[in-house]
Amino acid sequence: MSNSRTASFDCPICSVGIAEAGVCGGCVTDLGRILRHLAVRLPDLRLLAAKKASVMAREAGHGTRTVAPIPLNANAWQLQQSIEKFAVMLAAALGLPHRRLPAESLLKGAAQRADILMQRKDARYIHRLASTAARRLDRQLEPPESRILIGQCPDCGDDIWSSEADLTAGYQPCACGQTLDLTAVQEQRVLKLAISNARGTAAALSKVFKGCGIAINRLTITQWKRRGIIAAVGIRMDGLSFCCGMCGGRISASATGRPACQTA
Ligand SMILES: [Zn+2]
Ligand SMILES: [Zn+2]
Repeated sequence: MSNSRTASFDCPICSVGIAEAGVCGGCVTDLGRILRHLAVRLPDLRLLAAKKASVMAREAGHGTRTVAPIPLNANAWQLQQSIEKFAVMLAAALGLPHRRLPAESLLKGAAQRADILMQRKDARYIHRLASTAARRLDRQLEPPESRILIGQCPDCGDDIWSSEADLTAGYQPCACGQTLDLTAVQEQRVLKLAISNARGTAAALSKVFKGCGIAINRLTITQWKRRGIIAAVGIRMDGLSFCCGMCGGRISASATGRPACQTA
């Protein structure tokens, strides 16, 4: 707050001094640029996310077979979902029609009205969501070398790309200033995958976990199934979020590959 008589304000996004309260012109232009960037790169992300593998989940004893696609690149798929949701949210905030329109069109439409978006009370939040989405999208398309995406920062939502050394250390700083417990990040990731309702064989699920930096071999998953730790109706990802049904507790798939029951 300024005590001087000539009104002076800070831009809530970049903190630059401006004459009138609100978001500065530079940040308005910046938001438009970011939204157009998302619109341009979204089709590439769709291609990456659309890769699916049909895996067989066979029930021992019953002889029934289920074939269900499991996204090979769950990270890309989830980012695509969240950008599409963001595009609809922006269109709705602007009162634009958004039904049956591709997210690319919504993002372009929103970019043209960046000034209106930046007059909203939640301007800072919108700007941050857009910047984070663009950063995640760029790294998804050009992944950093020798690092894998293990999950998202619970504070800022940014993707966490870990090196072998980070995983061994068990913690890693995020750009937002948080120091992250990587096991907790991985657990969150597994639960998010569980919500996506993917199904697959022990081998396929093991591959999905490996993609999050969690080494659980297919044998362990088969054992979980045998011991009733994961749902008996095929090997369902969402089965991982519940313990055998006796205690209703959550299973945490830790880096050690041993499921731990987390009942309070
Ligand atoms: Zn600014
Ligand atoms: Zn963060």
